Amino acid sequence: MAAKMAMGDLQLRQNVRHATDVIRAKRAQVVNEMPDWQELREAGKKIRQHTMEHLDYYLQEFEANCTHAGGVVHWARDAEEARHIIVQLVKASGSSEVIKIKSMTTEEIQLNPALEAAGIHPFETDLAELIIQLGQDRPSHIVVPALHKNRHQIREIFQREMDLPELGERPQDLADAARIFLREKFLRVKTGVSGANFLIAETGGVCVVESEGNGRMCLTLPDTLITVAGIDKVLPRFQDLEVMLQLLPRSATGERMNPYNSIWTGVHAGDGPRAFHVVLMDNARTVVLADPEGRQTLHCIRCAACQNACPVYTQTGGHAYGSVYAGPIGAILTPQLQEMHHAQSLPYASSLCGACYEVCPVKINIPEVLIHLRNKVVKQNTAGFAGLFDVEAGAMKAMAMIFRSERRFRAAQRLGRIAERPIVDKEGWIGWLPGLLGGWTQSRDLQEMPKETFRDWWKKRDADDQ
Ligand code: SF4
Repeated sequence: MAAKMAMGDLQLRQNVRHATDVIRAKRAQVVNEMPDWQELREAGKKIRQHTMEHLDYYLQEFEANCTHAGGVVHWARDAEEARHIIVQLVKASGSSEVIKIKSMTTEEIQLNPALEAAGIHPFETDLAELIIQLGQDRPSHIVVPALHKNRHQIREIFQREMDLPELGERPQDLADAARIFLREKFLRVKTGVSGANFLIAETGGVCVVESEGNGRMCLTLPDTLITVAGIDKVLPRFQDLEVMLQLLPRSATGERMNPYNSIWTGVHAGDGPRAFHVVLMDNARTVVLADPEGRQTLHCIRCAACQNACPVYTQTGGHAYGSVYAGPIGAILTPQLQEMHHAQSLPYASSLCGACYEVCPVKINIPEVLIHLRNKVVKQNTAGFAGLFDVEAGAMKAMAMIFRSERRFRAAQRLGRIAERPIVDKEGWIGWLPGLLGGWTQSRDLQEMPKETFRDWWKKRDADDQ
């Protein structure tokens, strides 16, 4: 249903197409100028693989070093626990407002409604997130959440929500309006909530990369900073950033380097927030980690290159996926985070063309995981329907038996030709099949079986030649 609606929205499709074309072209240009790009990808994959194999060790190392530097680490089992911890921390800071940055993880746990329910007003400060919040919309892309909006639509939102009837529609006009709107919040609000791109175990530091500088304000101006991050965000060493900070910006926005790379460790007197909390959230990541085939999903560094490359995403945009994480990464991440209870159709939202795997900077084999998840969906759905499962399994066994023997295969072909006679029309097409097979012909016709096999035709041709 969501996909149908998105496909019917021509403006949205045009916006998504244009934006992804631009980002893809920029990425290709900055990736092609790197002679060691494949080696970098391999290094990125190895770092992420190693981290996931020793995740418990590195998380504890991060906790020890962050605490030593003056931060406070909280552990959240799931989204509910994370929301509860953050709301309590904001209340304890004495604020009834928060400024937010880098908030896909907070989208995942639906933090804003929980804050509002507790009487705390959140202000998104990332420009795209601000557009989404003011437009009462949902993000459609991991890196550019308002990618589905063009500047005419953004102008309308700003005019309405900021009460600026005379606002122009040049990018400069829109940026100026957002700057004035946000500057007052940066100076007034005393508590900040951020996500994180990376957590560095060796130092206990946190890294956020961004393009606008709003994140830098959000991370440095408040008295209290609360960072919420999935446990998969950890990196073992500071030096690992050398690889990640080359892979991420080139893959995400087609930039050689992010304009703002903020890395902070604990608290420092007279510099930045006086209280710093990190909420380390599981929310089913350990379940993903326990699955040897699905585990590579956790290697993701959220660059969205797979979204920009995906022929399905570029047609439908992110809302069609019905999940916070859209595109190919969403198709493998969301079902696993929800422990396969929801979003079961997502692993099928792919043509398995492999474009996502080719661009992924940490070489996640998304098609492989998609097939693995499709298997899981089938097993899960048939578990409660043993009868139906038996029919399908029985049919597969019979097919295997037929394909194993030439004699049986030929006999099956002869039988098939006899059985199809009553249902083939004059033009040689079958438009209806009985029973369970009827699903095939609901939306497609089958051609009748050829009168003779290729082998028979070949034998006859040889005999004629002699
Ligand atoms: S799966 Fe790979 S390409 Fe897609 S967002 Fe994650 S790191 Fe980027």
